[in-house]
Amino acid sequence: MTKQLDEKEQEVIEQCGTEKPFSSDLLDIEKEGVFKCKKCGQELFDSETKYKSGTGWPSFWDTLEDAVKKQPDGRRTEVICSNCGAHLGHVFNDGPEDKTGKRYCINGIALEFEK
Ligand SMILES: [Zn+2]
Repeated sequence: MTKQLDEKEQEVIEQCGTEKPFSSDLLDIEKEGVFKCKKCGQELFDSETKYKSGTGWPSFWDTLEDAVKKQPDGRRTEVICSNCGAHLGHVFNDGPEDKTGKRYCINGIALEFEK
């Protein structure tokens, strides 16, 4: 099932854009649930791994198993949906040290939250 994306969603998800910081309504969501790929619906992140990074983008310290693929993007590492290839964001090595040490910096517009 592929969702019809609007123009803003296409810009981020299909053209590797970046949403404006602090623009996502998923940024401060603290409910329990799962974050899915907006394009194909694959489950990507558990709310338990979400944390406040202060960067302005929804941040996670881990992904669900095999949910994403990583590929080099200049000096950064791009994170894409392993099912449909949607651009999600980037992963950095400055995440919480008591967890994985990873910071998945994800565009909220590429995600859909399900309680
Ligand atoms: Zn997907």
